[in-house]
Amino acid sequence: MFSRRGFLKNVGMAGAALGAAHLSSAPAQAQAQPSFDVNYQRLNRAELNTELAEEHFRIRRQPIQWPNNARIAVWWAVDYEVMTDNTNSGRIATYDYSGKAGFWRLLEIAEEEGVKFCWYTNAVAATRFPETLRELARLGHEIDGHGWSNATSLTVVSSELEREIIRRTFGDIERVSGVRPTGWLGTGWNTSNRTLEFMEEEGLLWSGDYPVDDLPYTVPVNGRKIVMIPYMRDANDIQTYGAHRHPAQLWVDNFKAGFDALYEEGKTYPQATGAAMHSYLLAHPFGKKAIREVIRYTKGFPDVWQTTENEVAKWWLQQNYD
Ligand SMILES: [Zn+2]
Repeated sequence: MFSRRGFLKNVGMAGAALGAAHLSSAPAQAQAQPSFDVNYQRLNRAELNTELAEEHFRIRRQPIQWPNNARIAVWWAVDYEVMTDNTNSGRIATYDYSGKAGFWRLLEIAEEEGVKFCWYTNAVAATRFPETLRELARLGHEIDGHGWSNATSLTVVSSELEREIIRRTFGDIERVSGVRPTGWLGTGWNTSNRTLEFMEEEGLLWSGDYPVDDLPYTVPVNGRKIVMIPYMRDANDIQTYGAHRHPAQLWVDNFKAGFDALYEEGKTYPQATGAAMHSYLLAHPFGKKAIREVIRYTKGFPDVWQTTENEVAKWWLQQNYD
């Protein structure tokens, strides 16, 4: 007989542990799966202190230079999200679509179009869908951290738990894919004022959590510069489709309008942009045409640097830009 409880148990937290058990390299860890999203410690919002540090507001109007004097840098970002919230089967199914179908469609589009995507990855994908991360590593796509599960925001957990989530996210992704992430976007775009410090401990090069400018900028953390690369807000399917169920064409139009403006400005002030898509939103069949369209659009212009966020961050540090 169908047991709702049993089903939820298998696709929820226990599902993640079962996934880990299949990894021959780490059977022991399967038992130690922490329940980050269960019984987390809710903090008083006033205690969170998520104010940005002063460095985020530094104003820079000197033009920078991209490789080959490109007018604009362009990257393609995927929020690759998996859910461990075992209270809602609809939500679990929505997000598991990411690993079973959405991921593969997006990867196929990227490969067909000859570009590499930046995958903001919930590390629970490493145990639930390990083959997806191995495939990204094999094909040389960028794997970035996006929290352990999409059910857990870093602003509602204690500092100790936040540090553990971050450590575990980097560790699980590396263990399965062989690649240690060097970029990060906070789950639900949430960070505490200690997040960057914990990231720095894990070797982070860049974060997408502070889009205070059109271009990247740096913030000193523990004596090291971390590059802030803007996460896209308008050419982002969480806004156009996730929040408002607009047709995919709005995402295309937003991207093109932003790209056109920045490309024009880029003649004298080199610019940067990207598009963000989710593995359970535009990755459905209706989004395929739209994704292809924006990638091909940017290829129709000269002096466009098709890149990834790691490459942007490395360039930024190499040039010693602020
Ligand atoms: Zn996300």
